[in-house]
Amino acid sequence: MSDVPTLCCFTSEDSHYSIKGAAAVTGIGTDNCFNIPTDSKGRMIPEALEMQIIKTKKQGMHPFFVSATAGTTVYGAWDPLHQIADICERHHLWFHVDAAWGGGLLLSPEHRHCLAGIERANSVTWNPHKLMGALLQCSACFIRQDGLLFQTNQMSADYLFQQDKPYDVSFDTGDKAMQCGRHNDIFKLWLMWRSKGMEGYRRQINHLMDLTSYFTARIKETEGYELVVNPPEFLNICFWYVPPSLRHLDPAEKKARLEKIAPKIKAKMMERGTTMVGYQPDKQRPNFFRMIISNQAITRQDLDFLIQEIVDIGRTM
Ligand SMILES: *Cc1c(COP(=O)(O)O)cnc(C)c1O
Repeated sequence: MSDVPTLCCFTSEDSHYSIKGAAAVTGIGTDNCFNIPTDSKGRMIPEALEMQIIKTKKQGMHPFFVSATAGTTVYGAWDPLHQIADICERHHLWFHVDAAWGGGLLLSPEHRHCLAGIERANSVTWNPHKLMGALLQCSACFIRQDGLLFQTNQMSADYLFQQDKPYDVSFDTGDKAMQCGRHNDIFKLWLMWRSKGMEGYRRQINHLMDLTSYFTARIKETEGYELVVNPPEFLNICFWYVPPSLRHLDPAEKKARLEKIAPKIKAKMMERGTTMVGYQPDKQRPNFFRMIISNQAITRQDLDFLIQEIVDIGRTM
């Protein structure tokens, strides 16, 4: 590392915490991983990205990497990949797309346009253990440049990676990764894909998107529900349930009281043993529910039940 200048990298403020984690582990430092502001839907603002790149250059740093997110963890937002790719080209930066959550949408010809521009990435992460329903864990990392994983990770351990094996050793993946003994995680994905096929996956993904539209439409017509992002961009539906006693309060007081509603409703759901939905606060927003529809077994009846359950529990708060 002795000759390396002060590297810095960029990701949106709504990106997954693992990007900062990687900056810490690699020695770049979390302070040199810059959070780019997002718009009201949670998408990275490209102009803000370019401004920050120019600023860090002026300060003598060496920008090298941008991680755009395709399907953010909380809001399910799609960063504008083409615009970010243009910026990366202009400044000669590595363009990574974190499609851990959103990658599965590529299997739907009807919805894959959300990831337009991902084909320009230098690298992509995609977790089949999320939207594609593979059992934990099954994470894929794609690198455009052929041979790069070998060049960076190869340690040539003689006891494992002999070059004179009786088959084509380019299929051995062991020396392309940092890790040593690991499960063959890709095997279950291969089996699933063989069994469902492209058409099966297409139906599966489209079905989840349809359920999301259904749920969104239902809560819009149900009194007390308010969407945080309207309409949702992906399978993440973020919403509040506002009990009658809070509906006519002034904004500041409503916000303060609303902060406590989602945690209380969730606790009660768990106590009843009926269902569980995660919640979280964000910047100026009080705690809201973050509902993710990714389980293949979910039906419209389950969603109707959930909507009614929240009303039943929250109505008298
Ligand atoms: C879940 C998620 C990750 C983390 O992936 P793991 O393989 O579970 O560590 C990274 N990025 C995004 C956008 C995610 O949603």
